[in-house]
Amino acid sequence: MFFLIGGIQPRTVTLDDAKRLCASCGLAQARLKRIDHYLSLFFIPLILIKRGQPLLMCERCGFVSSPEGPGERPLPISRTELDKKNCQKCGSPMESSFRYCPHCGAPNN
Ligand SMILES: [Zn+2]
Ligand SMILES: [Zn+2]
Repeated sequence: MFFLIGGIQPRTVTLDDAKRLCASCGLAQARLKRIDHYLSLFFIPLILIKRGQPLLMCERCGFVSSPEGPGERPLPISRTELDKKNCQKCGSPMESSFRYCPHCGAPNN
């Protein structure tokens, strides 16, 4: 009998313990993982053959996505930036909530 069992075995490595939001099921069950391929003997990984790319794998639904994917949300535009306008008379920047221009005193409408 030949008992030698060898081969290439994938090995999932958890890179980060922090749970992230899964893009598929919406639950914070996705973790940053990497699948490395090892040359194994008797199911014991011996030599690292190929190092995988980090990926986001959901432990609940199994959804796999790239960590640089659409999961990252862009920074929201600050309210002060939206509320800014220019004075109709002198053109100075002012907040739209101002009743009068702080520079020339013209009423804000
Ligand atoms: Zn999921
Ligand atoms: Zn003004």
